[in-house]
Amino acid sequence: MELFDVYSLFDVTPVKALGCKVWDSEGTEYLDLYGGHAVISVGHSHPYYVQAVKDQVEKIGFYSNSVQNPLQQELAHKLGEVCGYPEYSLFLDNSGAESNENALKLASFHTGKDRVVAFRKSFHGRTSGAVAVTDNPSIVSPFNACHKVTFVELNDSAAVEKVLKGGDVAAVIIEGIQGCGGINIPDPEFLQELSSLCKKYGCCLILDEVQSGYGRTGKFFAHQWAGIRPDIISMGKGIANGFPCGGVLISPEIAAKKGMLGTTFGGNHLAMAAANAVLDIIKAENLVDNALEVGEYLKNSIPSSPRIKEVRGKGLMIGIEFNEPVAEIRKKLLFEKHIFTGVSGQYMVRLLAPLCLTKADVDVFIKALKEIL
Ligand SMILES: *Cc1c(COP(=O)(O)O)cnc(C)c1O
Repeated sequence: MELFDVYSLFDVTPVKALGCKVWDSEGTEYLDLYGGHAVISVGHSHPYYVQAVKDQVEKIGFYSNSVQNPLQQELAHKLGEVCGYPEYSLFLDNSGAESNENALKLASFHTGKDRVVAFRKSFHGRTSGAVAVTDNPSIVSPFNACHKVTFVELNDSAAVEKVLKGGDVAAVIIEGIQGCGGINIPDPEFLQELSSLCKKYGCCLILDEVQSGYGRTGKFFAHQWAGIRPDIISMGKGIANGFPCGGVLISPEIAAKKGMLGTTFGGNHLAMAAANAVLDIIKAENLVDNALEVGEYLKNSIPSSPRIKEVRGKGLMIGIEFNEPVAEIRKKLLFEKHIFTGVSGQYMVRLLAPLCLTKADVDVFIKALKEIL
């Protein structure tokens, strides 16, 4: 049987990893500035994490949501404290797309409305509703496209208000920082206006923090840089350091009734052991502060070059926009310098390193980048 072709792949086969290092099947060591797409938050195979998952699978790996699972309460309690929303409730699922799907569904239940405002260059996942609010026609099928979605430009609050005036909008969904769309940071003033507009017109503000959340930008959630308080926050990627897990934070004002949401795998024992270990490590090692400090160091160390157009980002969510397509540069970084990087579109190298990255790691990258440039 052939595998379905998902992405175009680099010819590297990782077999072992620790912290920000990865080794391939030939024993070559790589520096990981991609974190498996912002998933590896506390570092690969962190000993505390490994032990927690091992211990859990030896006790009980899975039972469904039809029984009590104290590991879920433990996570909700810890997360409330760390993220600053102790009064919100937590719904647990298995991925970022699923979290957005549930967030959109809740907003629609709560308002009784069915239109959603989303932004140009957005990415929210590939399931039906999530892909419908994603601004990339090449991944939206006719079946997905039947959802009522209006796209507006980022930072254009007048355009948002025009749509909200129609009276049929359930939610505005926005990424804390746009990842796939090219590290586009919404203006703090815009987020504040968006928050007021949603209150004024009675629709829900959904913050997609799947990529920008969990400490990546140097605050627990990227929107906290703007001091706003969303109605619903969706999470995924780094939440369990690679074990599939997602979640939705729901403010107390949202009328969410029992039975509206559900899932078979969401909140299972193994995922909860992994997610609890992640929060313990984030706290014990001050990884949110580290992401900010090392991220700013990285951003400020990138050399100026006629080949580089702009460097954007916050904390360890960084885009280096080039004046040329970056395929060759990324190939050289990988095969000559042994550094994993990500990409946004054709012109941007995207860095989403584990939050435990050090300044010494950054120096290695900067030296390599200078040599390539
Ligand atoms: C990755 C991502 C998603 C989708 O998450 P999956 O786990 O792949 O379903 C949604 N929103 C944002 C901002 C993402 O980066």
